[in-house]
Amino acid sequence: MSIAQNIQNIKEKLPEGVTLCAVSKFHPIEALQEAYDAGQRVFGESREQELCQKYEALPKDIEWHFIGHLQTNKVKYIAPFVNVIQSVDSERLLDEINKQAVKNNRVIDVLLQVHVAQEETKSGFDAFDLEQLLTKTNISERWPNVRLTGMMTMASFTHDEQQIMREFRSLILCYNTLIGGPLKEQGITKDQFKTLSFGMSDDYHIAVQCGSNMVRIGSSIFGARSY
Ligand SMILES: *Cc1c(COP(=O)(O)O)cnc(C)c1O
Repeated sequence: MSIAQNIQNIKEKLPEGVTLCAVSKFHPIEALQEAYDAGQRVFGESREQELCQKYEALPKDIEWHFIGHLQTNKVKYIAPFVNVIQSVDSERLLDEINKQAVKNNRVIDVLLQVHVAQEETKSGFDAFDLEQLLTKTNISERWPNVRLTGMMTMASFTHDEQQIMREFRSLILCYNTLIGGPLKEQGITKDQFKTLSFGMSDDYHIAVQCGSNMVRIGSSIFGARSY
């Protein structure tokens, strides 16, 4: 099946209000162009160099989301143009994104990545640590050029759907804790902090049941990656 057909099939399965982020990492420019020609505008990439090259080569109305592990010394390369950094997993990274956003005279949208999976290898804030951080930090003073627009997570790599569901629900729980607690106290409401990015090719059907409003889908659109 073609990329356009794959996108069409997925979109038919997504409830209204769920955004499809097409994860194009490791796929060539031509594949992204094909998705673009089929109407896709939101793309996710996980390596800064690859993202920069694709940004240069492709139409400028694409919304670029960074979804991979981001080292602080690499933020400067994507800060001039990236639309959303989904994979923000540390205080230091928030500080650096703010610094680079200031330098570029812009505000960068970020999602807070929370660790819910059993595997220790996956990155993300611990939910409790994140609550502590946002409670003790004056957000608008410390990160004036960062806009917190929601949360992101990845479930464990397993076929146990109950476990995946439990993990997704723990993200929702964390979201509710933040939006009803430290964020509310600092005037950040659901109008701003509204993106719940979870669900990939193998588990997005579960994710949308659990309340995801952004799914990040790669292989079901572009085919298998070779890496
Ligand atoms: C690669 C990746 C995806 C997409 O995974 P697929 O299984 O190919 O759909 C989604 N989110 C993140 C963070 C990724 O790294």
